[in-house]
Amino acid sequence: MEIQKLNLKIGDYEIIPLPTGIFGLDGGAMFGTVPKVLWQKSNPPDEQNRIPMEARSLLLKSKDKKIIVDCGNGSDFVQKYGEKLGSKFSQMYNIDDSGPSLLKSLAAAQVRPDEVTDVILTHLHFDHAGGATKFELGQIVPAFPKAKYYLQKKNLETAQKPNLREKASYFPANFQPLLDAKVLNLLDGSKENILPFISVLTSDGHTQGQQMVKVSDGKTTLLYCADVVPTSSHVRTPWLMGYDLNPVLLMEEKTNYLGQAADQNWYLYFEHDPYCDAASIIRQGNDFQVQQRFSIEKNL
Ligand SMILES: [Zn+2]
Repeated sequence: MEIQKLNLKIGDYEIIPLPTGIFGLDGGAMFGTVPKVLWQKSNPPDEQNRIPMEARSLLLKSKDKKIIVDCGNGSDFVQKYGEKLGSKFSQMYNIDDSGPSLLKSLAAAQVRPDEVTDVILTHLHFDHAGGATKFELGQIVPAFPKAKYYLQKKNLETAQKPNLREKASYFPANFQPLLDAKVLNLLDGSKENILPFISVLTSDGHTQGQQMVKVSDGKTTLLYCADVVPTSSHVRTPWLMGYDLNPVLLMEEKTNYLGQAADQNWYLYFEHDPYCDAASIIRQGNDFQVQQRFSIEKNL
């Protein structure tokens, strides 16, 4: 399917994808119970069975606001994990710090880190919150010094007391400095208008207290799907990740949210799809399929 170019403005915001770098995750883990013969067609794996994944943040840029949704693996700041974990971490996940990064993509969009007004974190797994903090003068501090950060309270509590299954994804270095600096604004469930034109929708199937970000001006709607629908391949209701904590709940949440997206012509924005930024979807019985894939371009 051809990828169509799209220029998007919603409310006052220019919609600008911020690729923060490709990394690799085991293809089997990314597709759970889906047989490899099916997923390898759309997502071919490397010799270690890893599939390429983008960590795609989003910039919402207006005159008054520079809002970032999620912060990627923090390839700009891997040294904050310490030399030993830093290099092991980079190797294990094949993190390439020579390519795009959050700060490079921000600079390309002509935004300095100290101009960022708000950072919405969908959840604190390292591939979403790694770039939220940085190492500076011997301490770890917020990467965006003037920004207010938004997170679900339930997700913070999960990250502070992770279960054994998720322990390797929640690093205190990615959130404790935000608490220390008192920049975290904790939300309690789905909420409309946390910022102009921006609402958050919660989901507990992948991890407790994840929030998707809905940007809408009534005419055009974009849903930042985070790990509820990490790639366009995961639009199918039963295509879930092995990482998801509660797959049955996640399928119910997908049926609800993707049903609204299909019926109201929302654009779905994919954080981890290495091939496209966004897609529109249609219903197919109780399931969904991609109607059109898009790449969001600043200037068309
Ligand atoms: Zn996650």
